[in-house]
Amino acid sequence: MATATQILANIDFTQVTPEQIGKCHKAFELVDGKAVPFYLIENEAGTLDQDGEIIEYKVTYDTKHGFRCTCKAGQHGFANCKNSACKHVGWAVAASREESEALAELALEDAQQDVKTSVLTKTEKAFYRGEEKRQQATASFFAGLPSRQ
Ligand SMILES: [Zn+2]
Repeated sequence: MATATQILANIDFTQVTPEQIGKCHKAFELVDGKAVPFYLIENEAGTLDQDGEIIEYKVTYDTKHGFRCTCKAGQHGFANCKNSACKHVGWAVAASREESEALAELALEDAQQDVKTSVLTKTEKAFYRGEEKRQQATASFFAGLPSRQ
């Protein structure tokens, strides 16, 4: 059996399309009281089961069993798979990778927003400081005028 590292090394992420990643849905299940993520992958052909639900394969990973998939290839331990895992595993890994990148992007956006806000605040402060000086100047100008009586 190929190790997870070997399987990961065999995944060609450039071959995974956005449509394929779109077929992957992350979910969680409780294993020994811990929430463990797994992926449900819609079958590529869009085949429905007898209830009219799209058939999904479940891709899981744990240190003991490595990657597993409930599809036919997965049930045979990926024995007939070219890259030691079925395509669903590749998609699930690509989806999880995309997700962490998306999260990283969000974090980056937040960081940039923070920078923008602090720059804005600085500009505002400078503006108000300028405004304050102008008001002081105006006040002292009027104060300097002889009172009309
Ligand atoms: Zn599979």
